Amino acid sequence: MSELAIFGGPRAVTKEPGDLFTWPIITEEDEAAVLEVLRRGAMSGTDVTKKFEEEFAAWQGAEYALGFNNGTSALHAAMFACGLGIGDELICPSITYWASALQAFSLGATVVFAEIDPVTLCLDPEDLEKRITPRTKAIMVVHYLGHPAPMDEIMEIANRHGIKVIEDVSHAQGSLYKGKKVGTIGHVGAMSLMTGKAFPIGEGGMLVTNDREIYERAIALGHYERFDEQIQTESLRPYIGLPLGGYKYRMHQLSSAVGRVQLKYYDERTCEIRKAMDYFWELLEDVPVLRPHRPKDPSSHMGGYYYPHGLYIKEELEGLSVSRFAEAVRTEGVPDCCPGCNRPLHLHPVFNTCDVYGAGKPTRIANSPVDIRQEPGSLPVSESIGTRVIGIPWFKRYRPELIEEYAQAFRKVAENYKELLAEDPGDPPDLGGWHFFRHSS
Ligand SMILES: *Cc1c(COP(=O)(O)O)cnc(C)c1O
Repeated sequence: MSELAIFGGPRAVTKEPGDLFTWPIITEEDEAAVLEVLRRGAMSGTDVTKKFEEEFAAWQGAEYALGFNNGTSALHAAMFACGLGIGDELICPSITYWASALQAFSLGATVVFAEIDPVTLCLDPEDLEKRITPRTKAIMVVHYLGHPAPMDEIMEIANRHGIKVIEDVSHAQGSLYKGKKVGTIGHVGAMSLMTGKAFPIGEGGMLVTNDREIYERAIALGHYERFDEQIQTESLRPYIGLPLGGYKYRMHQLSSAVGRVQLKYYDERTCEIRKAMDYFWELLEDVPVLRPHRPKDPSSHMGGYYYPHGLYIKEELEGLSVSRFAEAVRTEGVPDCCPGCNRPLHLHPVFNTCDVYGAGKPTRIANSPVDIRQEPGSLPVSESIGTRVIGIPWFKRYRPELIEEYAQAFRKVAENYKELLAEDPGDPPDLGGWHFFRHSS
């Protein structure tokens, strides 16, 4: 009889996970902070948010932090703050969630997608530079799944061309790039702090920058109540008091209250996550087919991770598809083991066929003086990466005896892969998801 659970063998994972995956970690301190705001009737104020911003800026090592109601709006404000406007182009990696890019449409701008590197899963600097045109106004860097993007190369290119760099830190709060926290290496960072992310406060977002003008433009777009006499930027001063962007983007104070408590424990908790993830990878060091998606440089790290993945080298298992491999691992008792990651955005209908604002043609083209569509086949790494990555468990606690069982599930499938080759249907062409990662049923 086979050892593999998929063929009736015993499952590798036998123990109850307990708190191994529990996230967010909510204690009486979070509850008390929320109740204080509720009872005071201060849900729509800004006093708690301003304290959270101050503490967040200190933690980030940034001059300014501005709270938002979600990451989508924080990124929208970052784009506006960088001057992205009518006819401009934003360069964004194709492998990310759409909120790294789609808000550009509402500013009258368009999006050009760039290729990712198959090892970091972040922007490929060489490809990025090829996409720069006289219309490029900003580059959106995504520290994908917590992995710091190659900021030295990206900043060198951006500065040489006089282009602003926005960091989407939604997956990577606290991740280090060569000893520096990501978010303020570029001109501005913006991020989600929703509950699914490593930094969970409810629904919320944060913008961080060292640039006063960027900070004030972000205020102008969606924080009319703070767009007052303190504004110093000359080009904004004539409009003081006006709801410039027309948006209302302030953070809900129940979220700010949770955020202040979460921040106190964030470094400690994510340190434990990294210890657990490192242990998992250590246990699989000698197993072929899997490689950690994690920076090699010891002064860089993955922060709190976000839906961690491994790189899947199918050639080392005679071409066994990641879908089949993942199915076998799931049957061993690892529900998070899904093949693929985000599907490439340059093929998403919203970027190709939707006439969102009634211009008579798809918005991506309507907002550009030239036809910038990117056909299937134009970004080969992004289009095939789904077959080369695999979801692994996102441990929130360092519990060696449990982590060992999860690692054993992957090891067992890798060691018995030959049994899976015969019935391997291969990977479907639409592997991965547009928004959430696909979960096993
Ligand atoms: C979650 C996410 C966002 C959007 O954040 P929300 O808080 O959900 O609005 C943006 N970019 C990336 C990469 C994300 O994963």
